[in-house]
Amino acid sequence: MYKIMTPGPTQVAENVRLARAKECTNPDLDLEFYDFYKETCELISSLLHTENETLILSGEGILGLEAACASLTEPGDRVLVLDNGEFGKGFADFVKIYGGEPVLYTVDYKNEIDVSQLEQFLENDNNFKYATVVHCDTPSGILNDISKICPLLKKYQIATVVDSVSAMFGEYVNVDEFQIDVLCGGSQKAVSAPAGLTFVTMSDTAKDIIKNRKVPVASFYCNLGIFEGYYENKWFPYTMPISDIYGLRAAFDNIKNDPDMLKRHEKLAKKVRNTLLENGFKLYGESGYSNTVTAFLVPEGLTDKYIIDEMKKRYNIMIAGSFGAFAGKVIRIGHMGENATENNVNEVLDGIISICKK
Ligand SMILES: *Cc1c(COP(=O)(O)O)cnc(C)c1O
Repeated sequence: MYKIMTPGPTQVAENVRLARAKECTNPDLDLEFYDFYKETCELISSLLHTENETLILSGEGILGLEAACASLTEPGDRVLVLDNGEFGKGFADFVKIYGGEPVLYTVDYKNEIDVSQLEQFLENDNNFKYATVVHCDTPSGILNDISKICPLLKKYQIATVVDSVSAMFGEYVNVDEFQIDVLCGGSQKAVSAPAGLTFVTMSDTAKDIIKNRKVPVASFYCNLGIFEGYYENKWFPYTMPISDIYGLRAAFDNIKNDPDMLKRHEKLAKKVRNTLLENGFKLYGESGYSNTVTAFLVPEGLTDKYIIDEMKKRYNIMIAGSFGAFAGKVIRIGHMGENATENNVNEVLDGIISICKK
């Protein structure tokens, strides 16, 4: 087994793994499970600082992104897609699949979105039903300031969809203060549960958009409206993956009991960046460094494959290359969730430095 230091999936604590082995009930018929599910959703809402309802969906992180677009998009809707990375751009595909008209706002992939430039753009064109924003664009590690971007969008009555799958709990997220209508999260990043679950928070605005649609959502699984009244009616739209949810609950209990989590992420991310720079490496980004993942350039004369393979061979540690526009160019260290300990970060840095030494 490798020590995984990838930007998701991340390491999973023993109590989370054991929670997944608990005895199972019938989640459709056991009324206690409805309470367990609802309490888990409420715990997630409180950790994300929101009064909005959270839903846990049975599917990996991508399901949350697609469900948000499927539920909010009607044919012909103009949707603003903020694009400064692979996941940013990727939202356009989901918008298109559900008949919307994505309008890409594409800016430099090396930098966070400049809020005043975005404001200038919006002054001229703001007729959008909603906008999509990626908090941390994981393939490049660039972090966008959703605390400023979302309120700006709301100033123009544009609903906000945020993918914070790889940022939340390593970065501060306050759904209500930031004015996020749909926030998408995943189990396998800083939450540090195994891959397989996504969760979304939905504001009243988002719920109203779904309720007032003229054309029904062109999907069952991706329709966030199908959970309406599940608790009162004791009726899930499909059978819930009970063991996955037991594990997720344990992971969120760990987060609740770890008040230093955000500070630790900040401190270790700084250490990763500073140590790389001190040892002659170049970071990919020029601004917007995330506390969850660091991307650095493959040093001249080496390949990403060589560094990744040697890390496995010599140190039994798994780090990641990247994909899309970044394939072959960068190496990524995931320092989020259970990965984010002083020891783990030291080991991965020592390994990389010694492998790349001339
Ligand atoms: C991981 C991740 C997702 C979920 O998709 P994967 O299939 O796990 O890659 C969505 N958005 C972002 C920004 C992610 O990092």
